Amino acid sequence: MAYRAPVTDFQFILDHVVDFPTVAATEMFADATPDTTQAILTEAGRMCQEVLAPVQRQGDLTPARLENGVVRCSPGFAEAYGAIAEGGWVGISAPAEYGGMGLPQTITSAVNDMMSAACLSLQLNPLMSQGQIEALEHHASDAIKQIYLPRLISGEWSGTMNLTEPQAGSDVGALRSRATDNGDGSYSVSGQKIFISWGDNDFTGNVCHLVLARLPDAPAGTRGISLFMVPKRIPDAQGEPGTANSLRVVSLEHKLGLHGSPTAVMEFDGATGWMIGAPNKGMAAMFTMMNNARLGVGIQGIGVAEGAYQHALAHAMDRQQGRTSDKGESGGAGPIAEHADVRRMLMHMKAEVFAARSLALGCAVATDMARATGEADWTARAAFLTPIVKAFGTDIGIEVAQMGIQVHGGMGFIEETGAAQYLRDVRVTAIYEGTNGIQAMDLVGRKLADGGDAAGRIIDEIESCAEGCRETLPDMAESIWQAAEALREACDWLVDHPDMDDRFAGASAFLRAFARVIGACAHLRAAMAEHTETGAAGPRTALARFYIERLLPEHTGLCAHATRGAAGLYAISNEDLAR
Ligand SMILES: Cc1cc2nc3c(=O)[nH]c(=O)nc-3n(C[C@H](O)[C@H](O)[C@H](O)COP(=O)(O)OP(=O)(O)OC[C@H]3O[C@@H](n4cnc5c(N)ncnc54)[C@H](O)[C@@H]3O)c2cc1C
Repeated sequence: MAYRAPVTDFQFILDHVVDFPTVAATEMFADATPDTTQAILTEAGRMCQEVLAPVQRQGDLTPARLENGVVRCSPGFAEAYGAIAEGGWVGISAPAEYGGMGLPQTITSAVNDMMSAACLSLQLNPLMSQGQIEALEHHASDAIKQIYLPRLISGEWSGTMNLTEPQAGSDVGALRSRATDNGDGSYSVSGQKIFISWGDNDFTGNVCHLVLARLPDAPAGTRGISLFMVPKRIPDAQGEPGTANSLRVVSLEHKLGLHGSPTAVMEFDGATGWMIGAPNKGMAAMFTMMNNARLGVGIQGIGVAEGAYQHALAHAMDRQQGRTSDKGESGGAGPIAEHADVRRMLMHMKAEVFAARSLALGCAVATDMARATGEADWTARAAFLTPIVKAFGTDIGIEVAQMGIQVHGGMGFIEETGAAQYLRDVRVTAIYEGTNGIQAMDLVGRKLADGGDAAGRIIDEIESCAEGCRETLPDMAESIWQAAEALREACDWLVDHPDMDDRFAGASAFLRAFARVIGACAHLRAAMAEHTETGAAGPRTALARFYIERLLPEHTGLCAHATRGAAGLYAISNEDLAR
């Protein structure tokens, strides 16, 4: 099925839901005028439809493979990547002085959403580079920046992120790769990394690995980790790729999905690297990349949800089975989209995509405002929303993709339809870049460490939005106001419970409840904008009503779950679990 870039929806969310004009009004992002934004979204959307979407299936059917130590990518990927690089889509938000466009992360996020929908496995490549660009921009020396940034931004080279080792997954502090000082400004990096996305390819001039490793005598845990740039080919005096570095792809993983993305076991054997940031402060530098990537991965989920929805909708509008509801446009003789239960699934999918996308773009706006103004409140807001976007966006990706299979009936289980690929591909997004469980723990741990201030400000804002809509949309406004109060109570409970196990036990439920309420508020804003523009309720109001009446109530159970503490979870012994 052809992918249709939802440019109009992005424009609507930017204008009416997440207040993007505030970003465009800052001096830093003055170039992000409505015309420029529209032109970029339209052009990127065209590229996604015409160039990326056609290779998505090929990536699935012909996975990247390792041939005599060389990674051979899926058919058509080199050309499609070329289009991404030539379009400047890697460096939309990269600094202009190194060749980027210097535009807001919000625009990058919208473009990444479309690229993920069109071909997730390929999009993961520029996503890794984007994170690396930001990490280098903030933590690298000028000499490193001069060599690497222009080439990463143009897409001539690509970037990877090397944290995971067999014994160090969620527990990054357990990593054992090591680095020793060569005495000439460089280091020798050794160790094995696993699960490295796009560990190599056959279409960029160099592959730049950001590798976490320990210096000799470094303190244990995350306090003893340093970050190194370890390129596949060592740049020569002109900065061009020179001699091959002492590293190799040992093997590629066989995966459930995302076949077009080579996931590599990497061996670094005294490879030459350069330190990024200060000794033993590698996690701070890597967090710059990871925060960027967490927002990006949440958006991957949302993009795939959009693709899966469009795919399912096309099938549901075509397939005929039995007599449909008289309430449908065809008066009983319509396609399955006019059966109430199929309609429920389609509405659910559409409403979730809108809510999650608004949440993600709202987080991107906060990131941009933090950067443009330096104000602590914006920084705290972006930090608070990032794990929510990562976990909720990817959960929605999975849920919508699995619903897409259900809409297809038996054909959803048959690979040729393409519906199953969305689910297989998106499944990993809830796992990589920090599992969704780890995101939830981050939310109730670090992100509530301010005593709930950042959370409280968002809840206040939701309540004031509801107050502003009371006259026009009283019932929906009241539901959201009540939900915000329930969220506030759950938040207070968590803040009042310093035992982290009590917080962690309810973390995932709390994260989802927060996302639900923010999503409902986004729908309310959309309905309100529709009323203001047209003076009446239309499709946006109907979708908002669906979300607020049928999906938002989930928050009640989630808040209850979030505030039950840990004791009950351990009331069953390990032995009983196995019985
Ligand atoms: C396709 C793919 C691509 C990847 N790409 C990259 C990449 O480019 N670079 C890279 O460095 N890594 C990459 N990864 C690795 C990925 O980030 C890890 O798999 C992920 O962080 C989880 O680590 P783990 O697999 O060791 O699982 P584990 O850490 O063993 O986790 C297993 C389960 O236990 C839970 N858990 C673990 N610790 C805790 C805790 N303290 N509290 C509560 N629950 C916990 C987890 O949430 C999870 O549910 C990739 C993985 C895959 C599958």
